[in-house]
Amino acid sequence: MIDTTQRHRLLEQHFGFREFLEGQEHVIENILAGQDTLVIMPTGGGKSLCYQFPALALDGITVVVSPLIALMKDQVDALAAKKIPATFINSSLNQSEIDSRITGMQRGDYRLVYIAPERFKSERFIQALAPLSIALFAVDEAHCISQWGHDFRPDYIRLKWALKELGQPQVIALTATATPEVRADIVEQLALGKFGRQEPQIFVSGFARHNLHLAVSHVKGKAAKLHRITETIRQLKTGIVYCSTRKHVEKVAAELGVKCIAYHGAMTPEQRTKAQTKFMNGDCDVAIATNAFGMGIDRADLRFVIHFDIPGSVEAYYQEAGRAGRDGEPARCEMLFNYADVRTQEFFIEGANPTREIIAGLYHALLQLCRRGPITMSIDDIAEQLPTVKNSMAVGSALFQLERAGFIARDYESGNRTYTTGLVEPVKAFDELQIDFERLENKRQRDLGKLQKIIAYAGHHDCRHNFILDYFGDDEAAPHCVVCDNCLAHTNTAIRQPTEDETVSIQKALSCVARVNGRFGRARIAQTLVGSRSKEVVDARLDQLSTYGLLAAQGSDYVWALLDSLIRAGCIAVSTGEYPTLSLTELGREVMLRQKTISLALPEVAKPKKRTEKKSAKVAEEVDYNREVFEALKKWRRERASRLGKPAYHVFPDKTLEELARILPESPADLLNIRGIGPAKAKMFGDEALKIITGAR
Ligand code: ADP
Ligand code: ZN
Repeated sequence: MIDTTQRHRLLEQHFGFREFLEGQEHVIENILAGQDTLVIMPTGGGKSLCYQFPALALDGITVVVSPLIALMKDQVDALAAKKIPATFINSSLNQSEIDSRITGMQRGDYRLVYIAPERFKSERFIQALAPLSIALFAVDEAHCISQWGHDFRPDYIRLKWALKELGQPQVIALTATATPEVRADIVEQLALGKFGRQEPQIFVSGFARHNLHLAVSHVKGKAAKLHRITETIRQLKTGIVYCSTRKHVEKVAAELGVKCIAYHGAMTPEQRTKAQTKFMNGDCDVAIATNAFGMGIDRADLRFVIHFDIPGSVEAYYQEAGRAGRDGEPARCEMLFNYADVRTQEFFIEGANPTREIIAGLYHALLQLCRRGPITMSIDDIAEQLPTVKNSMAVGSALFQLERAGFIARDYESGNRTYTTGLVEPVKAFDELQIDFERLENKRQRDLGKLQKIIAYAGHHDCRHNFILDYFGDDEAAPHCVVCDNCLAHTNTAIRQPTEDETVSIQKALSCVARVNGRFGRARIAQTLVGSRSKEVVDARLDQLSTYGLLAAQGSDYVWALLDSLIRAGCIAVSTGEYPTLSLTELGREVMLRQKTISLALPEVAKPKKRTEKKSAKVAEEVDYNREVFEALKKWRRERASRLGKPAYHVFPDKTLEELARILPESPADLLNIRGIGPAKAKMFGDEALKIITGAR
């Protein structure tokens, strides 16, 4: 086996990298030692090297199964540029081309061969591979094998048989998805560690992103959210606001009053491409988008990602938030949390996972509707025939199930979400339909479980980085985090004894919690204390409590922050159920009764604590540069980048433009002192930039 020095030499020679990224070297050692391996790294974590490197060192071919057919050619070309012989086999090739590549494999022409998963449907194809010496079988995007994953692909299920036919070569599976079910499924389905090999090793790494300032702001409503967004854009300028629905995207984009692009799945492909291009080349620095905005967003200089609504899972959140700060500079990831928004996600989950009752109801309705022949109706119209169902998304999913089970056949009329739906003869009885209700129900529960986790993240009181790393099972702890809101609050707010006035406020707050012990969450209790007339408060008769309105003078921001401090200090416990409720702890009871005094991190009374503003000081700097120069540079950069056909930050990132506009260099030598400008960039763009600066000042 090759030693460390040799490994580094290979790394530099073939890949041009000086060091391994976190986790890579351990994975590679493990592969070279012959063990099956599961690698969990986030997108961009450097998974490819984990099989490309061993492919060079092992005797035999490395087969890479990947569903990303569109990328195969690029990957192979990139390897060719590194003098690593590779090829691919997918549906873009005709049979004779495939045959000639297989012959090439037999001749030993390639170290790596990328293969699309559906190839393994063909027995003939597998038989052609069987005699070859396959050293390593790499399964990329391995979560596609799991029905619990978000991207299940039936073709992946066949890989198990293919492996058997191929004589059980060593396997490396790679994914960015890491829930325990998916992991267990991958190990099981690919039979990792079986056939006389040792237990498979699972490596999780690369999830830590210490430049991300993670924060959650508990906000009361849309207006407060828009205010937070406006503030953030003013300070940080460049980033994405994610919303959970198209309606929110449109609303935020319209009401924000700043230049931005809107992006959602209901736009035409042309509109979407246009919006994305505008954002990518720096014509526009703010995007308001649904989660449809993601693939291909590799703009590295995003300074913020705000979530207007809570997303459906921690994976989804971290993937979207993780688009901030790709350049390694500080960036803020803030979730604007309001418990009411959870309902939207629950609605999506209901919609994606229809219950047995909905499917049965639809079955009977369709028997009636279609008894005289096929009908042409939109999903919404069909949903209206089912008075008990309010979620037309669920009807869409139920239709899909009935179609798959061979009860109906559908033809899509393009343009207007309308289908022609007819019964398939002979009409099957409901009990004969092959629909796996248990699986559907399990999936629904799992999806709800994932939602619970992200709600727990929003309510988390300790380090958010550690929460995320724990979630993904990444061992790297962040012991000295000073960049998440919770850690910052601990370090920035002095722990002190309350004054007499504050002691009284604390007593009031605690007695309100005691009154409703375990029945209401933080929002209701805060509303009660400030004397809100909102419907929820009145309906729950909270306005009848003796503690109603006791802290009206202090205002809602203060009360929220006070409850926060009391939770942190252990006076109030937060339940972990679906609707987290507050209850008094034993310590809280003693403090309420003045049997005990404690020190805690209290909010300032005069100036209600604005948690997020303090944090932003680290990320944002006041504008202390010459605006005209900055704007002129930006204009030049846009033209220059578009001539090169590159995104704007390829010329210079915003930070560099700002620094240019601050320092106002006069000579090429001055340029080299500016962050982001090395000799290469100075040579390429230096003269032009200097000219612009002189011209604009
Ligand atoms: P993933 O498949 O996990 O999304 P990739 O394998 O595409 O990630 O790698 C992401 C990026 O990191 C690529 O641009 C790759 O060239 C780069 N990279 C990978 N390994 C290293 C390394 N050891 N040093 C520097 N850059 C690396
Ligand atoms: Zn922290």
